[in-house]
Amino acid sequence: MIISPRIRNNICLTAHPSGCAAEVKKQIDFVKNNGPIEGTKSALIIGSSTGYGLACRVASAFGCGASTIGVFFEKEGTETRPGTPGYYNSKSFDTEAAAAGLFSRSINGDAFSDELKQKAITAIKEGPGKVDLVIYSLASGVRVDPVDGIMYRSTLKPIGTDYKSRALDTMSGKIISMAIEPAVEEEISNTVKVMGGEDWQRWIDALLEADVLSEGVKTSAFSYIGPEVTRPIYRNGTIGRAKEDLEATGHRINSQLSKKLGGSAFTSVNKALVTRAAAVIPAISLYISILFKVMKDKGLHEGCIEQMDRFFRGMYGGELEVDNEGRVRMDDLEMRADVQDAVNEIWNKATDENIEELSDLRGYHSDFMQMHGFEVPGIDYDEDVKTL
Ligand code: NAD
Repeated sequence: MIISPRIRNNICLTAHPSGCAAEVKKQIDFVKNNGPIEGTKSALIIGSSTGYGLACRVASAFGCGASTIGVFFEKEGTETRPGTPGYYNSKSFDTEAAAAGLFSRSINGDAFSDELKQKAITAIKEGPGKVDLVIYSLASGVRVDPVDGIMYRSTLKPIGTDYKSRALDTMSGKIISMAIEPAVEEEISNTVKVMGGEDWQRWIDALLEADVLSEGVKTSAFSYIGPEVTRPIYRNGTIGRAKEDLEATGHRINSQLSKKLGGSAFTSVNKALVTRAAAVIPAISLYISILFKVMKDKGLHEGCIEQMDRFFRGMYGGELEVDNEGRVRMDDLEMRADVQDAVNEIWNKATDENIEELSDLRGYHSDFMQMHGFEVPGIDYDEDVKTL
């Protein structure tokens, strides 16, 4: 089948298997070129097929030489339809891991369910026996709580006030204005239910009960804070409440694991990146396009793999910047005063006429396409490819 990008409402509905494979290979080469990491020997990555989770799996396997168990929720390709990018990423990861003689097991299903947790435990027992690293990197709009069977939906809304902002339609490249009404109480609690720490805690409890965590185990989940301009919609909004809950859960898991196994838990505040979710929040797209331009001009830009390679090297024997709330700050470069000042200046003067020149619209667009395996150098998009 010949696969081309099909984009509707800033969402790309197709993915290219060879392009995705090349992107995974690029991440593997990046980590290998930076040299081996004396770190995890066996890692469980929850949310391992795209974004930060995939980069963690690559760093674990190809940096540390670890066995990996990856959990994700992706659509498989069929004879007539391409699957989602994470499906192809995970297939290529498994192929590369096998070629390197590394144990890898990929489990496609709902990580929020008890059934999938048991499948992961079985895979750990059949493979490395125990894991010494658990990365929790889920990003989801919905969660079925296995306790009450209810499906909760997360929202991205401000709390207590309207959010009016300039924003960017990344497909047309036009500056637009957006307005979102404040969330009602139920939307706040539902967002915490989906993206807060409850499920991370349930994973750790299940893994502890099954005795598949090693002495000194580490676990980490990812958070975000971001700049003033997106504060009402992000950190002070519904998702920010969920991130506060995730961070508080990290502290609870930390005391639980330190008592039981001399282990530790922490959250890491990561850098803003182009993701499938970010593309549907136009204010965040505008911020990211400007941020990328500023960080590239200053030679500070990082993508997922650069961030997670630095995170792993810092976590194992290096140094990680930690703030006074115990969070690792991988957003240190993004939040540097000179970077944020430059972003603010551009934010205030961006117009339809100058946005192309003042922001990295092109870089944003190419990251978005490459996330789906398109516009990847060296790939022949006229070639017939297998979608399965
Ligand atoms: P992503 O969308 O690229 O990856 C999410 C992963 O979760 C995928 O592997 C997906 O298959 C999996 N997943 C989703 N629902 C699932 C389910 N029900 N069962 C099993 N797997 C499921 O996301 P990302 O951008 O890498 O975000 C990961 C974490 O990092 C999130 O907590 C996010 O808030 C945080 N973060 C992201 C950014 C950013 O800019 N992208 C910045 C800082 C922190």
